[in-house]
Amino acid sequence: MKLESPGPALGRRVVRRGREHYYPHVTDAEWHDWRWQFRHRVTSLADLARFLTIPPEEWKAREQVLSDFRMGITPYYLSLIDADDPRDPLLRQVVPLAEENLFRAVGDEDPLGEEKFSPVPGITHRYPDRVLMVLSNNCAIYCRYCTRKRTMYDGATPDVEIDRMVDYIARTPSVRDVVVSGGDPLNFATAKLDAILTKLRAIPHLEIIRIGTRVPVALPQRIDDELCEMLAKHHPLWINVHFNHPNELTPDAARACDKLSRAGVPLNNQAVLLKGVNDDVATIKALCHGLMRMRVRPYYLYQCDPVRGAEHFRTPISKGIEIIEGLRGHTSGLAVPTYVIDAPGGGGKIPVQPDYLLQYDREQGRALLRNFQGKLYEYLEPRANEDVLVPVAPPIPASAQTPPIVLAGSNRKRAEPESNGKAQSANGNGHASSSPGATNGATNGASNGATNGASNGAANGAGNGAMNGAGNGAASSAKNGSAPVVGKSKWVHRGSTKAERAARAKKRTS
Ligand SMILES: *Cc1c(COP(=O)(O)O)cnc(C)c1O
Ligand code: SF4
Repeated sequence: MKLESPGPALGRRVVRRGREHYYPHVTDAEWHDWRWQFRHRVTSLADLARFLTIPPEEWKAREQVLSDFRMGITPYYLSLIDADDPRDPLLRQVVPLAEENLFRAVGDEDPLGEEKFSPVPGITHRYPDRVLMVLSNNCAIYCRYCTRKRTMYDGATPDVEIDRMVDYIARTPSVRDVVVSGGDPLNFATAKLDAILTKLRAIPHLEIIRIGTRVPVALPQRIDDELCEMLAKHHPLWINVHFNHPNELTPDAARACDKLSRAGVPLNNQAVLLKGVNDDVATIKALCHGLMRMRVRPYYLYQCDPVRGAEHFRTPISKGIEIIEGLRGHTSGLAVPTYVIDAPGGGGKIPVQPDYLLQYDREQGRALLRNFQGKLYEYLEPRANEDVLVPVAPPIPASAQTPPIVLAGSNRKRAEPESNGKAQSANGNGHASSSPGATNGATNGASNGATNGASNGAANGAGNGAMNGAGNGAASSAKNGSAPVVGKSKWVHRGSTKAERAARAKKRTS
């Protein structure tokens, strides 16, 4: 039955969710017992149909989806889902949907090439000083977009295999950091995890241990005193949690995170950018603010990997950039995660940022920067280590005004931007009115530039290409007047053409 209040109160429908709705007869003792939660996970469609409506025409498709990748939803996580909203952001993360089938042929079993970089089963050694160790193949909930679907079919990882992973780390002195991930390590019995962490801790060159877990999100009851006391024995130990949506930030989750923090474990969040779940600035901002209140630092925002069956979750890269751009400067820097794309085939995590450095001329020591409001600023680099920068006046007391700096023998001044500063100051709130233009100019400039740069880059090396690209773009937008440069440095550089540098060099050596 759908409880909707018609008439004047329209839009204020009674939301059917929560423990009272789904599990009215379960006792407190059961509900707060993580073993009960784990045992009562929803794992079949018939089970699911007791709680959520499954359209009859979708059963077949969803069954097929389930044969590809299993389902697991804890009663706790289910209780956060709105039973009447088929687009509920938590439902989409864990309930098998026909959409997975639609794009079944697309995507990869192992999009990150983890097997390729695996010296022993379970270990991925991609970076010089740290390894990923996949301990188990079961999780409290199964996320439909999981990158490691392929590992989630088999039974428990045999102990000998775990010993082989530990042994690899022990005989590889370059490894100073291990990411113990999953499958979810916190699904292990406390004593078993303790034994594994003890073996890892005995490795002298292993400095830090990190655990990647979704348990505080999906099964927060598991974070009990016994577990926290055990974890605290193995410091320095860090935990990466995996919250994707503000609806997951419940009092239970907050309590779990608080317990871990009190056990001395720094918490960082790794979210995945998912279409229809969290792909807008407001949602990610609310998520990051909520995490901060729980003393969890937003660490990464991952582009969704092209894993099989997850095509409908993927967003364009521009979406991730837009989200970061909507956060940086607009809210606490601590609340801004690094947006990363894990390169297909095993290139590792590549950070992607909005372009704030629009132009960078290394020879001239000059950069054109864009701030979070789209205003442009010129920044000049120090030249103190060259013979060209000489203060005219001797140093004067700090109380006095900053002396103007002029260059010995200077015959060139910094190029003035062609847009006029007058227009800005004339209209009183100049910046505000000039920023839309600046934003467009910058955006066009940067994107044209980036494109050119990328193609030049193929020949010149990606680094140069990107740099030239950004430069060209910004320069052309500055020329057409849409991008006034604000914020000029007080320093003046001597012109630095090749001929001038050669002449100076000659003077120095003669
Ligand atoms: C993500 C990842 C790590 C850890 O990367 P950080 O950027 O240090 O958090 C290590 N190894 C592999 C294979 C990974 O995918
Ligand atoms: S918790 Fe992590 S490893 Fe487990 S299914 Fe979700 S994304 Fe995959």
